Amino acid sequence: MAPKMFCSFVSLLVVVLAIHQPFTAHSRSPKSTDPSLTSFQSLEGALKGQTKQGIKDVKRYLKAFGYLDHGEDGNDVALMDDRFDETLESALKSYQKFYHLKVTGKLDVDTVKQMSAPRCGVPDLVHPRHAGRNATKPSKFRMVAHYNFFPNMPKWPPSQTHLNYAFGPVPGAIPLEELRGVCSRAFQRWADVTMFTFSETSTGESTDIVIGFYNGDHGDGIPFDGPGNVLAHSFSPTDGRFHYDADEQWSTNPSSTQFDLESVALHEIGHLLGLAHTPDQNAVMYAITNPGALKRDLRQDDIDGIHALYAGQ
Ligand SMILES: [Zn+2]
Ligand SMILES: [Zn+2]
Repeated sequence: MAPKMFCSFVSLLVVVLAIHQPFTAHSRSPKSTDPSLTSFQSLEGALKGQTKQGIKDVKRYLKAFGYLDHGEDGNDVALMDDRFDETLESALKSYQKFYHLKVTGKLDVDTVKQMSAPRCGVPDLVHPRHAGRNATKPSKFRMVAHYNFFPNMPKWPPSQTHLNYAFGPVPGAIPLEELRGVCSRAFQRWADVTMFTFSETSTGESTDIVIGFYNGDHGDGIPFDGPGNVLAHSFSPTDGRFHYDADEQWSTNPSSTQFDLESVALHEIGHLLGLAHTPDQNAVMYAITNPGALKRDLRQDDIDGIHALYAGQ
């Protein structure tokens, strides 16, 4: 009992310290220009049949987030050219539909703006599309619920309701004690609405979840992209990897050019538990995170989603 009480006391202390001494990372250089962002803006108004420099960046973007497939034979050639073809038009329409934009199939102003927004690196659309959604979503919720799951609905088995987490590489500009408070609070939000409990492991213990900061190509096949656009990504159950992009400006008390560590942690833990992206922009599982924005509490769509996934467990 005593060690548990001690842990609780330490957690409380961390929370108190976090409240009174908000950490702000000032050490990083100002946000550099994201090349894909620039090319998206220069493509405003582009439509099917045109060939414009930078269209291939749009194709890469849509492919990265699940809107464009490999060809039948896994051939990526069509993705590497600047032709605005029918496949791209169709992918853009799917993207516009997901984000409740006007479905034009063109690179209109609203679409370019949406594609330029900072976001999570996990794909929005999974194949088969919206896997599991209709299988478990109660029909009475169909008109209001938007949550999605990963293909084949991976989740933690009933025997694993207690998950251990540990920290991987953390940049010197981010004090580990601050990050501990951030993650502890984010895990607790999910624990409050599920049967899961979470605790940080001591060195040497087995871990279910590892949280770390990485930049560029970091060995998991999904390279980060430098400042802007992709902020973080994580993997579906029972993988347990949660990666922040170390090239972003992170803070526990973000200014209008920084991103909130805790809001992003809350979102990425949702992926670790099995939720995919929702088109509900009020929900934590919405992919876009604006600089300076705080979203530190779960919303109804998130709670309905995690309950549906683990229903009966
Ligand atoms: Zn995400
Ligand atoms: Zn990664």
